[in-house]
Amino acid sequence: MTEDMKPVALDNLMNFNCSSKNECFNECCRDLNQALTPYDILRLKNNLGLSSSDFLKTYTSLHYGPESGLPVIEFKPNPGTGHECPFVTEKGCRVYEDRPGSCRMYPLARAIARSRQTGEITQYFALIEEPHCRGFDKNAGQTVKEWLKGQDVDEYNEQNDKLMELISLKNQVLPGKLEGAGSDKFYLALYDIDEFRKQIIEDSLLKEFNVPGDILKKIEKDDEALLDIGIKWVKYMLFGIKITFGE
Ligand code: SF4
Ligand code: SF4
Repeated sequence: MTEDMKPVALDNLMNFNCSSKNECFNECCRDLNQALTPYDILRLKNNLGLSSSDFLKTYTSLHYGPESGLPVIEFKPNPGTGHECPFVTEKGCRVYEDRPGSCRMYPLARAIARSRQTGEITQYFALIEEPHCRGFDKNAGQTVKEWLKGQDVDEYNEQNDKLMELISLKNQVLPGKLEGAGSDKFYLALYDIDEFRKQIIEDSLLKEFNVPGDILKKIEKDDEALLDIGIKWVKYMLFGIKITFGE
């Protein structure tokens, strides 16, 4: 935790208010250094009516974690606007309903610890005070918990925690740098999910797993169900964890 981060508990008052009337309005969207999660991409590409491949190609850049070798997706810098978010407008966020989880959390940071015995997750929060953000010391009368509820962030956290579990599994089972085919599978199933769906339907990618017909039918239309299958497939292909259904 850096010195700009102040640990807070869910029942603490936020002492923070973000408003279009703040002189810093949109400043937090103009210098991004933000990784997008699979669920962020799912929501954004659907908001924009794009396939995952088109969304990734148009708006993002891909690099690989130097130590993990895992794919990392970020907004693509633009020669004209640098690291400004492609969706920021004078009036605010153009994809507000489907903005990424990190945009919802800001200026809070969230970390989790998962019990190895029970799988239970404990959450920790901290406020990040950055000089550009002038929302501090403007009491909106909300606790951290109330503020988070207003950001509608629970579904994002739940989905993103599945990614964290996968990364932690990778670090335990395959420490070191993941190369080539492993990284490609991770990218396909988690980030380029419409291409993953196409390969399931047209190339019978999952034929060896006896996926029940109702699940195959569901993933034709349901991106979240598809992402869940993608996580199972990656767990099998990279770590040998058997794919089961109905648990
Ligand atoms: S997605 Fe919206 S809230 Fe997030 S950085 Fe871009 S404009 Fe800002
Ligand atoms: S910089 Fe802070 S207060 Fe200003 S718009 Fe962004 S989050 Fe809100």
